[in-house]
Amino acid sequence: MESLFSLLKGTSFEVPEPWPETSAYALSGVAKERGAILAGKTILMTEDVVTKIFQAAVSVMDGADNLFTVEAKLTNVVRTAPEGVTRKALEKRLAQVSRNAGFKRKREVNEARSRLRDACAIVILITVGMRISELVSIKAGGYRHESREDITLYFIEAHVAKTGDGLSEFVAPEIAIRAFRVLEQLSVDLRARHMELLDATRISGDSHKYAELIAHEQGLFLAKSNKNGTISTHTGMNVRLKAFVAGLGIDWDFNSHQARRTFAVNVARSSRGDLMLLKEHFKHWSLDMTVLYAAHESADEELWDCVYDAVSNLRVETIGRWLGGNALLAGGLAHRMMTLRANDEDVKVYGSREKLIEVVSETVNIRSTGVAWCTAADINCGGGYGMERTRCADCSSSVIEASPHQAKWEAMLIQQLELKELSDIGVAAKERAERDYQHCRQVLTDLGCDVDALEAEPI
Ligand code: SF4
Repeated sequence: MESLFSLLKGTSFEVPEPWPETSAYALSGVAKERGAILAGKTILMTEDVVTKIFQAAVSVMDGADNLFTVEAKLTNVVRTAPEGVTRKALEKRLAQVSRNAGFKRKREVNEARSRLRDACAIVILITVGMRISELVSIKAGGYRHESREDITLYFIEAHVAKTGDGLSEFVAPEIAIRAFRVLEQLSVDLRARHMELLDATRISGDSHKYAELIAHEQGLFLAKSNKNGTISTHTGMNVRLKAFVAGLGIDWDFNSHQARRTFAVNVARSSRGDLMLLKEHFKHWSLDMTVLYAAHESADEELWDCVYDAVSNLRVETIGRWLGGNALLAGGLAHRMMTLRANDEDVKVYGSREKLIEVVSETVNIRSTGVAWCTAADINCGGGYGMERTRCADCSSSVIEASPHQAKWEAMLIQQLELKELSDIGVAAKERAERDYQHCRQVLTDLGCDVDALEAEPI
C-alpha cells in the first residue's frame, strides 16, 4: 500500500496515504518487537498537512508589509485629524482607508494583525522545533547569526523552562528569522507601552508589580487585557493556533507539540538527505543538521533527544528492511546484508532476528547519497553527491534499494547510453561511459529490473 501510494502520487491514479499517522512497520508490531524507540503520544503531522499549514502561514506572512502600510495610514489619519473632529467622522475616515486597502471594516485590520502574529508563530514552531512556552518567551533582538561552510546559520534565543535549562539557543532557518522580524514590528507599540508601564512602576517603588512586569520585557507575544489594560505575555497561543489551522479548512486537530515532533523527524531525515518537505526554506539543511544539533552547546537538550530518537527510529527501520524483509538489494554491502538476512546462524548468535537488527543498527551509520545508502565514515569519497555518483554501485559501503533509489539509476543508465553514442568525447570519456553504464546495469539487474526492456523503451 505504501509503495502504491508513493508510486502513484501525482498521477490520475493517486490513492490516499494508507496510514498517514504511522507506518506499516509500526502497525505490524514488528517495530515494537525489534525494540525500536517508538514515537511518543504526539501525532506526527503528515507531509501534506504540514505543507498546507506552512504554506498558508508563509502566505499570510508575505502580506505583512501591506498590513503595516495600511496601519501606518490609519495612524496618520488619527494623527492629522483636524481639531474638534467628531468621533463619528473620524471613524468614517478610518473605515474608508480600511476599505481602500481591501478590508471591509477597520476591525478586520486588527484581526489581520492577530492572524499575522499566529502565522509567524506557526512558521517558527515548524522550522525551529520550540515548545509553545519557549516561543512566547522570545524577546525582541533575541537572535544572532554566524557563518559556517559559506552558509549563514541563525540562532534564536528562548527560555526553556520545562527542563530547567534556562536561556537556550535554537538553530533557525532564514524564514524563521523573517517571522521573528515581523513579530518585532508587530509588537513595537505594545512593547513601548509596556516599557512606559515598567518605568512608571520602577519609579513608584512597587517592587512586587515591577517583578511581575519585567518578566514580559521586550516580549514578542505581548497582549493587552481588555479588562484592566495590563500588558503581559499571551497565554492562549495554543488555542489561537488551533483556530488558525481550523480556519484554513484543513481537517486536522493541530497541537503545537506536533510541530516539534514533525521538526525532529525532519532533522533526522536531513541526515539521510531525504528531506523533501519545505526544502527550499531549509537551505542550511544541506549540512547534516543532526551533527549541528549534537554539537551545539547551548541548545535545548530535550529537543536534541527528540531528534536523536527520530534518527534512531529511521535507522532501525532501514536496517530492519535490509535484514528483515525479502526485497532485493544492490550495492557493495548488499550481499553481506542479504547473507545476514538468510543466515540463521547469526540470528542464533544474537538470540533473535530483532536483536540482530538492533545490534547492527547501533553500529552502522547510514546517510543518504541520493543514489544509495552509504555506511562509510568518510563522507568525501567523491561518490554519491560528489563528482561520480555511479561510484556507489559497487562500493563496499553501499546499499541500494528499489525505493528510493531505482529511478535514479534508471535515469543514469539512459544518460550513459547517450554519452556512449557521442563521437567527440575522446577514448577516456567513452571508456568511462561504458564503465558507468555497466555499473548502472549491474545495480538495476540486482534490483530485479529488466534492463533490456528498459533500454528498448523510447526515451
Ligand atoms: S562510493 Fe561508497 S563511500 Fe562513497 S558515497 Fe558511495 S557508498 Fe559512500
